[in-house]
Amino acid sequence: PIVLGVESSCDETGVALVTLDAVSGAPRLLGQALHTQVAMHAAYGGVVPELASRDHIRRVVPLLRQTLAAANVPLADVDAIAYTAGPGLAGALLVGSAFAEALAFALDKPVLPVHHLEGHLLSPLLASQPPAFPFVALLVSGGHTQLMRVTQVGDYELLGETLDDAAGEAFDKTAKLLGLGYPGGPALSKLAETADPGLVAEIKLPRPMLHSGDLEFSFAGLKTAVLTKVKAAEAEGALSDVMRAALAAAVEQAIVDVLVAKSVQALRQTGLSRLVVAGGVGANRYLRQTLVTACQRRKAEVYFPELGLCTDNGAMIALAGLLRLVAGTPAKTAGGFSVKPRWPLIDA
Ligand code: ATP
Ligand code: MG
Ligand code: FE
Repeated sequence: PIVLGVESSCDETGVALVTLDAVSGAPRLLGQALHTQVAMHAAYGGVVPELASRDHIRRVVPLLRQTLAAANVPLADVDAIAYTAGPGLAGALLVGSAFAEALAFALDKPVLPVHHLEGHLLSPLLASQPPAFPFVALLVSGGHTQLMRVTQVGDYELLGETLDDAAGEAFDKTAKLLGLGYPGGPALSKLAETADPGLVAEIKLPRPMLHSGDLEFSFAGLKTAVLTKVKAAEAEGALSDVMRAALAAAVEQAIVDVLVAKSVQALRQTGLSRLVVAGGVGANRYLRQTLVTACQRRKAEVYFPELGLCTDNGAMIALAGLLRLVAGTPAKTAGGFSVKPRWPLIDA
């Protein structure tokens, strides 16, 4: 089957076509198009929901045309249409769902409402070396930080999650304190690479919940700790570029230390030997390197989505729809639609 996917839960509009490879049976991306609203929201220091919804409306049809052209697939060959039904911004979700349901209705094709996190979770299956089931998933995005046991498509067990801020949020909020704009995660990571290791070692930041014995996280305290350091540096004069870089690296290390330790603990606890990373923070180079080393040490395998598929995109939604379809989840008849701004993955 060929599945069209539409993502519009936050500030990326994504459209993609996926199918199963005729020879290997593995999922394959036929084409995709993506528009990020990051530049539009940057002026406000965060996503403005109403602007997001309006921009999704403007972008989605041209992106569909672009995707069909890139894949060289006529619309009539699409077998089902998947879209993000939640969680996310209600208005933004409504644009994608209304578009997908209307298109499916016009084409007389079924629809597959997809859970956004299931899309993130399954996105590493589009990589050239996809993981086999079962595996532990570390889902680290802008809104979520979760460890899950993934037994099969649709069979997810929550092992632990953040009690407050997500890892991506911790990156973004501390980046803002360092004057790095929005969303600051990638900029903070880039700045951290220029840091003086000696100076970084002198900065003591907390590793929240590191020894809690469970698989829960907490990142909200980290930004307070960084704020204290920033204020102290400012009191002594200006916050120098050298100090900003060192603080960036110290923050990155603190976040990554906890993510890696808890991932290893999840492998130990479940007895599984495969770790799959998904979500925007999965693009972080230091996290990737540290996880590779940690997994090598315990003879476990670690898998990542391709860099371009870490943050939101249509391909992961099309993929989740396709894999659900193949696994026997019944597709819906197109027509009425509803979105679920709040929706635990366990209920998907
Ligand atoms: P959710 O999926 O939970 O609803 P989201 O869709 O906004 O949230 P993603 O698109 O998966 O989240 O990821 C965005 C987050 O990833 C942002 O917080 C961003 O700062 C972070 N991020 C992206 N690249 C990097 C990087 N290289 N280093 C650190 N963080 C990064
Ligand atoms: Mg985004
Ligand atoms: Fe996301």
